[in-house]
Amino acid sequence: MNNKLYGNLIFELSHAGSKGYTLPENKFGKYEIPQNIRRGKDAELPECDELTVIRHYTNLSGNNFGVDNGFYPLGSCTMKYNPVINEEMAGLPAFRDLHPLQPVETCQGALKVYYNLQKSLSELSGLEEFTLNPFAGAQGELTGLMVIRAYHESRGDHKRTKVIIPDSAHGTNPASAAVCGLDIVEVKSTANGLVDTEDLKGLLDDTVAAIMMTNPNTLGLFETNIPEIEKLVHACGALMYYDGANLNPLLGACRPGDMGFDVMHINLHKTFSTPHGGGGPGSGPVGVRKGLEQFLPNPRVIKEGERYKVQEDKQSIGQISAFLGNFSVVMRAYTYILTMGEDQMKYVGPYATLNANYIKESLKDVYELPIEGICMHEFVFNGLKDKSTDITTMDVAKRLLDYGYHAPTIYFPLLFHEAMMIEPTESESKETIDGFISVMRTIAKEAIEQPELLKSAPHYTPIGRVDDVLAAKNAILTYKQLKAKADS
Ligand SMILES: *Cc1c(COP(=O)(O)O)cnc(C)c1O
Repeated sequence: MNNKLYGNLIFELSHAGSKGYTLPENKFGKYEIPQNIRRGKDAELPECDELTVIRHYTNLSGNNFGVDNGFYPLGSCTMKYNPVINEEMAGLPAFRDLHPLQPVETCQGALKVYYNLQKSLSELSGLEEFTLNPFAGAQGELTGLMVIRAYHESRGDHKRTKVIIPDSAHGTNPASAAVCGLDIVEVKSTANGLVDTEDLKGLLDDTVAAIMMTNPNTLGLFETNIPEIEKLVHACGALMYYDGANLNPLLGACRPGDMGFDVMHINLHKTFSTPHGGGGPGSGPVGVRKGLEQFLPNPRVIKEGERYKVQEDKQSIGQISAFLGNFSVVMRAYTYILTMGEDQMKYVGPYATLNANYIKESLKDVYELPIEGICMHEFVFNGLKDKSTDITTMDVAKRLLDYGYHAPTIYFPLLFHEAMMIEPTESESKETIDGFISVMRTIAKEAIEQPELLKSAPHYTPIGRVDDVLAAKNAILTYKQLKAKADS
């Protein structure tokens, strides 16, 4: 990695007159761009030869850490598995080259993929009808809440403006409720991390539209009071919303529809092996129980006889995404489900749960476990168990990078000061997990014997420890900003 070019910006590698392309001869004649839309002076673009460009970007990509580089125990992100066969299927020209405005008669295959994935998600979740249109989990939440509002309004029930959300919820839950124009009411958690049903009872009345629950919740715990919560919520006329972003601990074990939930979203980019991060593309399908399907967003893919159709519903909340969402993501998730098959799918939940519990039990003598007991796919440590050092969760996370592991989710959830949320997923081998456990134990030992090593970590990454606050407050994002700073 230590070549001369490494570390330079593409602008610094620029040499006037260098280029890495040749354009074919222009056979179409000259076209004069109208004066009023022409730029005043040439764009300041870097000028580099082909190999310089290739090496620059290849080296840059090598600085990144991804699931294909090493273990990635990030919590509340579920699956970190992007099989190559998914890419091959999504890249098939017959699918890849479709145009979204093509007549439905000419893209029956793609619509069949949509329809089949809708049906697979129904079967896995126990909810009757799905839309694949939302582009992300958060957009799925908004879609689901809009469906809930449309349901209440269709019955002339206009006073239901509140959504109850547990204090441990993912931040997108209250954000989506606010975007939907609903008021947020927080329900407390008990000391063992579950929704406090006594607190909930005091909040329920005829102004509540829904409760949004995450299960397993953000602490990785299964909400064991759902039967009671479901009775209370439905008795007051509100609906049950299920945040199924991280559904994998449930796959093959149980289904939200059977627990009495009315509406849910699933993140294909967390649970069904489609790439995650970098801001997208994602997909947050929304499922509803029978009787709510007419409110789902337009357009909807349906099947009539042996043909697939795209349908618009008058009672629908309307269109929430361009066309039918992210088709290539849908294609990847569908490929994953077919590759797994029913036989393998039933092990997803049990293995995700087993792997997380194995790590938790193997490390709880050196890291503080604030909530004991069996977790689902993830769990939270509250920093090192030995509180006599000043080693923080941040120091542990930075030191992990030196050993070639991505850090867990840190300082979230907010319920614990030194939170470290670990999620191995079902896709990791025992050898990989044992390697992680051993490194975490080594770091716990270093914290006592060589704390300065942790305080100054990471030591072996292209960039050492950054000043988070300075980077956030004084972000330098362009070459111009960098030059201005250097010149000043
Ligand atoms: C990730 C996540 C979301 C939001 O999903 P995005 O696709 O990032 O918008 C919502 N809820 C939970 C529990 C999540 O983990």
